Amino acid sequence: MLKYVEQVDPEIAASLRGEIERQRFGLELIPSENFVSPAVLQALGSVMTNKYSEGYPHKRYYGGNKYIDMAEDLAIERAKKLFGAEHANVQPYSGSPANIAVYTGLLELGDTIMGMNLAHGGHLTHGHPVNFSGKAYNFVQYGVDSKTHRIDYDQMRQIALKERPKLILSGATAYPREIDFHAFHEVAQEIEAVSMADIAHIAGLIVGDVHRSPFPFTDVVTTTTHKTLRGPRGAVIMCKERFAKDIDRAVFPGLQGGPHDHVNAAKAVAFKEAMQPSFKEYAVQIVNNAVALAEELLAQGFDLISGGTDNHLILIDLTNKGVTGKKAEAALDEAHITCNKNMVPFDKRTPFNPSGIRIGTPALTTRGMKEAEMKLVGGWIAEVIHNVDDETVYQKVRDEVRALCEQFPLYMEQE
Ligand SMILES: *Cc1c(COP(=O)(O)O)cnc(C)c1O
Repeated sequence: MLKYVEQVDPEIAASLRGEIERQRFGLELIPSENFVSPAVLQALGSVMTNKYSEGYPHKRYYGGNKYIDMAEDLAIERAKKLFGAEHANVQPYSGSPANIAVYTGLLELGDTIMGMNLAHGGHLTHGHPVNFSGKAYNFVQYGVDSKTHRIDYDQMRQIALKERPKLILSGATAYPREIDFHAFHEVAQEIEAVSMADIAHIAGLIVGDVHRSPFPFTDVVTTTTHKTLRGPRGAVIMCKERFAKDIDRAVFPGLQGGPHDHVNAAKAVAFKEAMQPSFKEYAVQIVNNAVALAEELLAQGFDLISGGTDNHLILIDLTNKGVTGKKAEAALDEAHITCNKNMVPFDKRTPFNPSGIRIGTPALTTRGMKEAEMKLVGGWIAEVIHNVDDETVYQKVRDEVRALCEQFPLYMEQE
């Protein structure tokens, strides 16, 4: 596979080989990551990267788009069918530009938007002051209850009634519980706001029928395609027909130039995969694995935000272990267990050195791991955190991790 890169650029070939090895022999616990299929990978690394096709299918500003139209039409039709959406735009380069496209398409700069507090699980593009969203719009934020760590729906409604946002945004990046999208939509209707759901993290759980869907009632839904949905890096915006023109115009020519046609072809492949019965089994197993991992961590004395999980992710508050998120991330990395440090709700520490770590099961589930393996993984996490700075423990766990990974082969044809 790497034959040509090896010839032209041995340095990049070395980095690619290193990354394949890292993915194969380490435990990937970052909840926003996954392993795409060889079919998705093949569409991504295809000649469609060569094409310019500004515009939309059958209405392009460049010639030669017969096959690009074929692929984008398929991606659109499949996205609509998969989610039950009236309209789909598959051109957003990624989740962040997709969200910005919605705001610019449906609102005026300076308008009020209500989203989830970032420190409670919201995303940067949900109004963080360092992000374009927070600079260009007036964001007001709801959060989670200080005891239950679950979204405080009453507080959300009170803030909406007081602040009268033009758009109400649901969806999160670090929230371990199921989201009641209908509750958000009802409040939006009450104040005549647009309802928007950003399902980037849980799209795979929604199409797999293990979580409630924001369709068909939510006005606009954005999702990345590369998290639980297990497609290429990218995003989709779906909406009711009456928003379609504004959304399409916001994406192109409002925000983007030529679509990434190779990525869009790969999105179509991923959507087809997500329509198969095996994907539903996959989605069910993601949650079963997360619950099994959470149980093992609880047994090891870990403090889990909200006490557990309903979805693919677990947020651990490490305060009772006397280890910071930054330290834990680095220690687990030494043992070839990859996760990310993360703020916990009401965190007293800083984003760069927060109190928690965030872990998730989508990638390990793709490898075929089940509850028994999750018990092992939970045990190793505990061993590393309880013996932080102990090189011999890192080495021991690293060897055990490798032995487990060898039983669940990954990308064997990528040499
Ligand atoms: C990941 C994520 C995004 C952003 O996606 P990128 O592709 O990284 O730009 C947006 N919203 C939520 C809720 C996310 O989890």
